[in-house]
Amino acid sequence: MTSASRRVGLSTDDLPFLFGDRHRELAPIVRLAVADVEALEEGGHGDAVDRAIIASLGKNGLLRELSPEGRAVDLRAVCLVREGLAWASGNADSLFAVQGLGTFPLHAYGSDVQRARDLGAAVRGEEVAAFGLTEPEAGTDVASLQTVAVRDPADVSRWRLTGQKVFISNAPIADRIVLFANADPARGRKGITAFLVRRGAEGLRLEGPTPLVAEHSIGTLHLDGCVVPDADRLGEVGAGFGIAMGTLDTFRVSVGAAACGMARRALDEAVTRATTRKQFGKEIGEFQQIQAYLADCVAELDAARLLVYRAARLRDDGAASITQEAAIAKMFATEAAQRIIDRCLQIHGGMGVVRGVAVERLYREVRALRIYEGTTEIQKVVIATRLLAAERARRPVEPA
Ligand SMILES: Cc1cc2nc3c(=O)[nH]c(=O)nc-3n(C[C@H](O)[C@H](O)[C@H](O)COP(=O)(O)OP(=O)(O)OC[C@H]3O[C@@H](n4cnc5c(N)ncnc54)[C@H](O)[C@@H]3O)c2cc1C
Repeated sequence: MTSASRRVGLSTDDLPFLFGDRHRELAPIVRLAVADVEALEEGGHGDAVDRAIIASLGKNGLLRELSPEGRAVDLRAVCLVREGLAWASGNADSLFAVQGLGTFPLHAYGSDVQRARDLGAAVRGEEVAAFGLTEPEAGTDVASLQTVAVRDPADVSRWRLTGQKVFISNAPIADRIVLFANADPARGRKGITAFLVRRGAEGLRLEGPTPLVAEHSIGTLHLDGCVVPDADRLGEVGAGFGIAMGTLDTFRVSVGAAACGMARRALDEAVTRATTRKQFGKEIGEFQQIQAYLADCVAELDAARLLVYRAARLRDDGAASITQEAAIAKMFATEAAQRIIDRCLQIHGGMGVVRGVAVERLYREVRALRIYEGTTEIQKVVIATRLLAAERARRPVEPA
């Protein structure tokens, strides 16, 4: 463990105007959780370690932030947790975030009966959740998903789901997956419906884990007439697209927070390196080119954090929509983090590409953040489309 890894770059102090007391109280709890995660990952990775991480996040009370009983999700709190976890481990951050994607639909759209039955175990970390939307032919264009749900003719109290879901995080260890299928394909996205699919369900088969560029629990789900009781349908038939988008809209900003956590860790490591490594008889931090790298990193990281916590704060204050602010935060923070980590790796010289060195791991871990929960390109589409629509709406209508 390096000196930087004991600092835990998580702070509410530098942006006091964006945080409240409960955020300041959360910071030390996140530090404890980070220490637990580091201890669990010391022996390596795998399904058992991933489950233990979820259990420990539950024990530390952090999973409660994803589905808080009787109140809305505090998005700044979720972002702070992700920033802290991502500082230490991209894998732990992903486990936490996906537990959120897989429980938030229940929290926000489930019935009282479903919430009472299924939320407790997930919040305590006893059950692992996942979110199954992407398909081989439906990635960015999720509305075109082809998995179908039909009422079982032999028993209309249950559904049969047929199709395939790819890139499903937590799939190898999930106890239940919020999964989206079309119950009325003729109606397009208006037929998409959300279901809770349980581990071991008849007709459900897991393929994986799929090895990625960095540690990340992920796999493919095959549904071959998979049986789902109607009691496990989430929301109305046809309400699924809104549930999927509402969930992603809530969590998208937090991807930016995770990027900030990774970038902060890289910067901590680079500052340590710049003040300890000597060449030409001097610390490398005395060379102006290294200083310029560090200055660019700090400025970009500050800008990214401001965008992330602006969006989160607006949402916590009850803004009707933060689609634009969330897209800007996700796009900027993930792209900036990639640049920051690249510079910090450069500051390490050859040591930066040695397997197991923190910046090398971060270089691999940060890459997927520019892709999942909406690629950078689609965030740009969202941002520019809204900008242009606002301009068109402002103009007086020309007489025909
Ligand atoms: C690590 C990881 C974890 C994931 N976890 C989950 C999960 O838990 N659950 C889940 O459901 N999914 C998950 N995904 C899937 C993820 O959401 C998709 O990979 C993502 O939405 C992109 O879809 P795609 O991979 O099919 O790329 P494509 O949609 O095929 O896109 C390919 C390229 O074309 C670009 N493109 C597409 N459409 C446009 C457009 N209109 N304008 C401009 N450019 C465009 C994209 O930006 C991209 O550069 C995960 C993916 C990764 C990498």
